[in-house]
Amino acid sequence: MTCYCGNSKDFNACCSLIHDGTVSPPSAEVLMRARYSAFAVGNIDFLYDTFHPSTRRYQNKKDIKNWATENKWLKLEIMASTLQTVEFKAYFKDHNDNVQIHHEKSNFKELQGRWYYVDGRLTK
Ligand SMILES: [Zn+2]
Repeated sequence: MTCYCGNSKDFNACCSLIHDGTVSPPSAEVLMRARYSAFAVGNIDFLYDTFHPSTRRYQNKKDIKNWATENKWLKLEIMASTLQTVEFKAYFKDHNDNVQIHHEKSNFKELQGRWYYVDGRLTK
């Protein structure tokens, strides 16, 4: 099996190591992939904890959990990435079983050697 994030490695050898803190994501893109996988497996704590402190206060775990669990996560496509931005498409099935594409350009920041998700802008 390949990882939810699209890597050919198994989840246990890929994003799972980032979720449990064994591996610190070396780049914004790797964190983005791990966050997508966290939606797929419902790891709400990881999603919450990887929000940058400047935007984390606007988040709550219940909303994250609803968004993660009411949808079925199908695949992730990275369109482009730079040091601090990642543009991606996340394919998912909503609660009506319709396939939706979440196309976002996200901003990331490094803080004391760790990468965090700051915010994102939906793209058409
Ligand atoms: Zn992965």
